Amino acid sequence: MLNLSSKSDLFKSGTKALVGNTFKKLKALEDISYVCSNLYTSDLESAATQVIKPFCELAGADVGVVMILKNPDKQIYIVASYGLSEGFIETYNNKLRYTLNSDCVTENWPSIRSVYKKKIVLIKDTDKMRVEYSKFFKESLGVNKIKSVASVPIIINNDAIGAISLYYTNQPDFNDEELSFMKTTANIITGTIERNHLLEAAKKSEKELAEANEDLQQINQELDSFVYIASHDLREPLRTIESFISVIQDQFKNSLEDKLQEYLLRIIKATKRMRKLIEDLTQLSRVSRETKDKENELVDLNVLITEVQFELTAFLQDKNAQIVLTSESPKVLGNKEKTASIFKNLITNGIKFNKSKEKKVEISLVNNPNLDHKKICICVKDNGIGIPKEYYEKIFGLFQRLHSQDEYEGTGAGLAIVKKILEKYNCEIWVESEKDKGSKFYFTLIKGD
Ligand code: ADP
Repeated sequence: MLNLSSKSDLFKSGTKALVGNTFKKLKALEDISYVCSNLYTSDLESAATQVIKPFCELAGADVGVVMILKNPDKQIYIVASYGLSEGFIETYNNKLRYTLNSDCVTENWPSIRSVYKKKIVLIKDTDKMRVEYSKFFKESLGVNKIKSVASVPIIINNDAIGAISLYYTNQPDFNDEELSFMKTTANIITGTIERNHLLEAAKKSEKELAEANEDLQQINQELDSFVYIASHDLREPLRTIESFISVIQDQFKNSLEDKLQEYLLRIIKATKRMRKLIEDLTQLSRVSRETKDKENELVDLNVLITEVQFELTAFLQDKNAQIVLTSESPKVLGNKEKTASIFKNLITNGIKFNKSKEKKVEISLVNNPNLDHKKICICVKDNGIGIPKEYYEKIFGLFQRLHSQDEYEGTGAGLAIVKKILEKYNCEIWVESEKDKGSKFYFTLIKGD
């Protein structure tokens, strides 16, 4: 009969052994976790190879295999192993070609069963398994002494993408602690594989981005030459047409029939429009491609608007129109020329699309409490023909016009240029209007001080 003290000694030594064993496992787990946390490779095979050996040692397994399903044909490949001969892996991966859906695999193979069930599959005694399974299994593995198998699925994003299988020549009891270690280790490995999958995807996108950048650079270069052609070469034949027209007009001034005079005027009008179109497209393309460094000048809006007003003097007189500045405007950040072009476009539109006897464009600073504190808001208001609500967005598109050339001349590029300039400033533009009641164009600019 054991006395109390010997009982407690026995308990202590048993506990010690248990604690020692657990400690060993925790240590191995720590090692695996360390290996995994330092694995920054997109190479799944090398990631799996580095962890399968410590995993087998931790679990006391004689053979370990990491299998991954590969699309599109869902074949199962060994990507890493421990305790298996190279010859076997070679034959397995290249000659046997087991597909996931084949009966012999789904029925018999523990790894694949664990993939299908997304659960750990334990086979405690392979001798008690069905004969064909045992034969198949032992023959294919080439190890006759295998007694037990444990397969843990590798699950990423709720999909089982493979399994880690451990093969034992002994028969471990697979108690809760063993299983819990196995699951934890599989989780660490899965995390590593998942991270490496992401790494691979990131590298792929990085490569694709670099390629796209290269393409973009090429396209920009092509666009550059297109803009060059548009702005120089296309103007050349236009000039020739214009000079011949003026020769015809001069030399045959009195002898030209009315009909021919009218045709000539039409040609002149068309060439003017063509010239304006070329200029607008060139400007739009420049605005789209220019980098931001030229856009940080300090621009005094009061001075700028006065200059624009001066530039438009003849046009304003011709149209019996006036510009009214209702408030002082602050300094803003931007490119002087482009900012002037915003005002010029909006002012000329306000006067062009206007049937009032006394055409008026009012420019004011708008107090908008919801505005980003770094921005100011400006309103350009006219007493023109107005814009129906359904066209508020459309008019900012390239070549979008609401009227024919006979009604109002134009290219339909002005507002698209204005919008592009403001987009480059990270600013916005919108319109409020009503048919026959004038329009208010609002836009923001970045404060300069
Ligand atoms: P364009 O002036 O060359 O026609 P825009 O891009 O400047 O081209 O304007 C696009 C269209 O938006 C114009 O054709 C016109 O129909 C409408 N629009 C622009 N500004 C006004 C305005 N102030 N009042 C009424 N309609 C306008």
